[in-house]
Amino acid sequence: MTFSFIILGLLIGSFLNVIIFRFDTGESVVSGRSRCNSCKKMIAWYDNIPVLSFVFLRGKCRNCGERISWQYPTVECVTATLFMFVGQSFFFFGNTESAIQTVFSLGLIAALIVVFVYDLSTMEIPVSVLAFGVGWTVLSLFLLWYFASPQGAFSESRFAEGLIGGLIAFSIFYALVFFSRETWMGEGDAWLALMLGLVVGWKLLLPALTIAFGSGALFGIALILLHKKNLQSRIPFGPFLAASIMFMLFFGALVEQMFGFS
Ligand SMILES: [Zn+2]
Repeated sequence: MTFSFIILGLLIGSFLNVIIFRFDTGESVVSGRSRCNSCKKMIAWYDNIPVLSFVFLRGKCRNCGERISWQYPTVECVTATLFMFVGQSFFFFGNTESAIQTVFSLGLIAALIVVFVYDLSTMEIPVSVLAFGVGWTVLSLFLLWYFASPQGAFSESRFAEGLIGGLIAFSIFYALVFFSRETWMGEGDAWLALMLGLVVGWKLLLPALTIAFGSGALFGIALILLHKKNLQSRIPFGPFLAASIMFMLFFGALVEQMFGFS
């Protein structure tokens, strides 16, 4: 079973690379085969196998010899690894809640990987990915509540916790965006914070935001110490929010125990 999740992760990772690249160039995501970014020659299927082709081609295009970005195999490997964790953490045969949680986690991780890579390289977050992420999370929370056995009261459900958490996180970030006139945070960060609140719920909002701001600050300090950036440089915040959501997806229950909630 673990093997299936790894293979699925490699394939989806390969697809995410296409999405990230085509958002950047404005090309359609669904139409057209992959081409070399440099010589524009169509890439044959045997040169387009996740990770393996990169290794066999030694990171160069077969036609023109131009270097292929490390971003491609990295995204594929990271997606495969995270998908494997999802399989191990959430999937049990013949259980509806586990199936919903598994599919939800895979979709959420795919969206967050696009956000992470895209924001890091362009300082922007594609609106369609944010819309997908928010819609996907709300739908999943609803399904998890609807199919839970026993169903339980809505007011005490994770769905309600998520909606409250999302509202609080969105309000905080929207205020930051508004008062800083998008110099500290972008509007995309506010929508990503909404996703974070939905996923972790209001109870775990504080630890989740602490992880995001803490890791962002550490990263910023490290870059300044390495003389890669100065204090005026802008660092995208989306990747840290995305990383915090992924961390809490896997370790939220553990953090909840540690902080003595529920
Ligand atoms: Zn080429």
